Amino acid sequence: MLARRIAELGAGEHTKVYELSFWSERLLAWAMAHPDFKTQLFRFVDVFPATVGNQDVVRHLQEYFGHTGAPRLFELGVGLADRARLGRSVSASVARRNITRMAEQFIVGSSAASAVPGLHRLWRSGSAFTVDLLGEKTVTEDEADVYAGRVTELMDTLVAATAGWAPDDLLEFDDLGAIPRVNLSVKPTALASLYSPLTREEGLAQARARLGPIVGAAAKHGVYVHIDMEHYDAKDLTLQLVREVLDGVDVDAGVVVQAYLKDSYADLTDLVAWSAGRARPITVRLVKGAYWDAETVTSRANGWPAPVFSDKAHTDANYERCARLLLDHHGSVRAAFGSHNLRSLAYAVTYARAQGLPDSAYELQMLYGMAEPMQIAIKRLGLRLRVYAPVGELVPGMAYLVRRLLENTSNESFVRHRFAEGADLESLIAPPAVDRIPDSSPAARRSPTDAVAPAPYQPEPVREWRRASVRAAFSVAVAAAGRRPPIDVPMIIGGGGDRTADRIVSPDPGCPDRIVGLAASADVSDVDRAVAAAGAAGERWAHTPARERAAVLWRAAENLRARRDEIAALEVFEAGKPWAEADADVCEAIDFCEYYGREMVRLDAGGAVQSPPGEANHLSYRGRGVGAVISPWNFPLAIPAGMVCGALVAGNSVVFKPAEQTPATALALVEALEAGGLPAGVLNFVPGLGETAGARLVAHPDVSFVAFTGSRAVGLGIVADAAVHRPGQRDVKRVVAEMGGKNAVIVDADADLDQVVPAVVASAFGFAGQKCSAASRLVVVDAVYEALLERLTGAIAVLPVGHPAGMGVQVGPVIDAEAADRIRGVIASCGQRLVVRREDVPSTGWFVGPTLFADVDPSSSLAREEIFGPVLAAFPATSFEDALTLANDTDYALTAGVFSRSPAHLRLAAEELRAGNIYINRGITGAVVGRQPFGGYGLSGVGSKAGGPDYLLGFMNPRAVTENTLRQGFAPDT
Ligand code: NAD
Repeated sequence: MLARRIAELGAGEHTKVYELSFWSERLLAWAMAHPDFKTQLFRFVDVFPATVGNQDVVRHLQEYFGHTGAPRLFELGVGLADRARLGRSVSASVARRNITRMAEQFIVGSSAASAVPGLHRLWRSGSAFTVDLLGEKTVTEDEADVYAGRVTELMDTLVAATAGWAPDDLLEFDDLGAIPRVNLSVKPTALASLYSPLTREEGLAQARARLGPIVGAAAKHGVYVHIDMEHYDAKDLTLQLVREVLDGVDVDAGVVVQAYLKDSYADLTDLVAWSAGRARPITVRLVKGAYWDAETVTSRANGWPAPVFSDKAHTDANYERCARLLLDHHGSVRAAFGSHNLRSLAYAVTYARAQGLPDSAYELQMLYGMAEPMQIAIKRLGLRLRVYAPVGELVPGMAYLVRRLLENTSNESFVRHRFAEGADLESLIAPPAVDRIPDSSPAARRSPTDAVAPAPYQPEPVREWRRASVRAAFSVAVAAAGRRPPIDVPMIIGGGGDRTADRIVSPDPGCPDRIVGLAASADVSDVDRAVAAAGAAGERWAHTPARERAAVLWRAAENLRARRDEIAALEVFEAGKPWAEADADVCEAIDFCEYYGREMVRLDAGGAVQSPPGEANHLSYRGRGVGAVISPWNFPLAIPAGMVCGALVAGNSVVFKPAEQTPATALALVEALEAGGLPAGVLNFVPGLGETAGARLVAHPDVSFVAFTGSRAVGLGIVADAAVHRPGQRDVKRVVAEMGGKNAVIVDADADLDQVVPAVVASAFGFAGQKCSAASRLVVVDAVYEALLERLTGAIAVLPVGHPAGMGVQVGPVIDAEAADRIRGVIASCGQRLVVRREDVPSTGWFVGPTLFADVDPSSSLAREEIFGPVLAAFPATSFEDALTLANDTDYALTAGVFSRSPAHLRLAAEELRAGNIYINRGITGAVVGRQPFGGYGLSGVGSKAGGPDYLLGFMNPRAVTENTLRQGFAPDT
């Protein structure tokens, strides 16, 4: 009834978003009907503020729409078709005017002062307001300070400006008492540079330090502060922040609950209980949630259960359930219902009335510039309406604008259905058809692979660190690993474990006095025995059916899953890996087992060849014999897992020499394969020194191939040594060598710096830059060079550096003392502009802080040679083309990245960048098996890509068998 009444009262009113101008209206209509065009339109709107001058606007217009089926109207509007007649400046200014108008539709003013008249208009029309400050993503502490300063300024401006406004009892009182006139909405992520699950403590402390004074000032001035809710990653932090900051403070304040979250009902229950104990109840703004697409995409990509309901009806039903909870506890808590869905709002109002609550007991909230007919109707009904009104400049406002456009054009949008499509009211206000609202989902868990019918390969989901239970479980594992006595790492030959007189000591690089592993040190004769054992066991293994070999890998994967936290925690101490990096290394090892197992089953069916009448041809693959696997320390489980499992499943036996620095982690791989049922002798484990055990393995005449990952110097030596034919040797040794890189990230003039800064920080300094794929060169188009460096400097300066056992540590230690000294040498000797340098943070351990050099000479050693550790060299380029040339000017060709919003530049980069892995508009590390087959060329590597469909072929000999099927003129039917 009520929903119909609201619709009636709003009838005849218009919603402006679909009536902006002829041009914009047609554009949105076309976008709703053509999803590809919608993507291009939103991307253009997104890049628009970064364009400089008319020519640049027109270039982007052409790149985005020049070749699409854009409507003729659109072409006319922006003058693409009539460019000759209208000229560039007209095209650009039409686009500029219309985009600005679209933005103005949703933004009340560009600054506090300029927003006042618009807010006053709202007030006079009978609407309360809450003001939200739009801003860039906060990546530095300076930016967080600026945001906090803007909030304070906004508060002061509005307190002064609203003092003389006419009173309005409806807007200024509810049944519990007075309601402040000035109402601010604050984004916690803008108050802290480290506001994320793994830097939780640091992020909360930063946010507290800024929100506390804001709340204090609000209490003093009688201003209301609402703490907004954003992405799910930040939800638990924000709930904690709210309690920490508001506890004991007598202030009008509130928080958001997003009904699309499966957790929301439980969170709301807790909030209501907490609020009941306060002197002044908090307000809960109940919304559906604005990040559904992003939450869904992120979760699906990571293999996590989505935190949001996938079915819109569940969100709607949950909204109503939460509304009941809120209204049932009116007095302990105040309710605000934020929605443009007529049914949801009408439900809340009707339920409140049924409980005997006066209409003033709650309020309804809507966004500035959206669903105006409903806003008018709600006011006509005498209900309190509050309008969420953003204030800010166009550039940082773009993300907000795109979100609003998305909302207005989404298939699920009530506003679209009602106001753009005039959908039937009865169907729109029908109750959500739901039997049961789903509960929160537990953390992802994969089931073991069925060897008979394996499901398609999917990467192992990395830990969902935003879950408290996941963090707690891992911290228990880390504590246990920290207490563990040194792990005894034997050499394992022919199934038997042996110690040696000499031992390899593997210390914790973050605390060198702690010994993590004590390993055997194989000598030349041990290696010879290992090769012999591999040879003896190899024949039987080679004849084991491919599916059985694959099943060993799948069972090994299950063993790694069972020991996942334990092994990752071990890496935290033995390899100096921060939590997330350590977990990702174990996941990648599991992925190699799962992926190569399936690949072998595929290859076992044979290769595609023709068989003409009278002839049967068959192309099959066999293992090559005994393989040597030599691995580095920086991915102590995953890289050897890839090489060992690839070689084994292809039908070879293996002698595996791990890196000296990480033998204990390597042992976990051997144990997993043993647990998976690998017969004794098929895998032999010889921890030892590279120059002796490694060199002997490469030179051994019975070794038929070498799989190596490590440095360029050692790799080239291995390639040369393996080429020598030695007495008794029956194979030309094949070498698969993955070596180093000097990886560049290019930043174009129109790149989104909000996206660039976190991605470059993670690529350059995640795990102390000790990844072969790490960014070590930053090539920036002149126009944004200084701006980027300034933001990057601030973002690097806050990176926590320390022992990775402590949660929140972003940058772990450098793996050994010698490498640390080498890096310090480079830093000391370099004459470039040093922008950030944080060195030797803890007193023990081999730490070098993240270091950024600016204005580096592109031909200097700093820009060309591999320097381990967290060192990034930045230099400007005169144009995008110049940036490509500079990026390509290296012997290496491993990974490269480009940030740009120019489709033409992205195509050019994808075509021209000299690298085995090219990443567009994202970080350049973290390749996933089966998604980004990994490996370089040039002096970065030889062989095929790990984790890709060609990899196993490198460990096999292809054999073609041809049979003449014609006998006495008779051939079987084919
Ligand atoms: P490293 O070359 O020093 O050692 C790698 C392995 O080679 C170790 O097991 C070592 O004992 C062994 N070795 C050393 N000398 C040897 C010799 N003469 N004969 C045979 N084996 C010998 O490399 P590292 O420091 O352990 O690893 C870091 C390097 O690995 C970096 O250059 C990094 O870029 C590279 N890396 C490349 C990739 C890739 O996929 N391209 C991946 C990870 C690491």
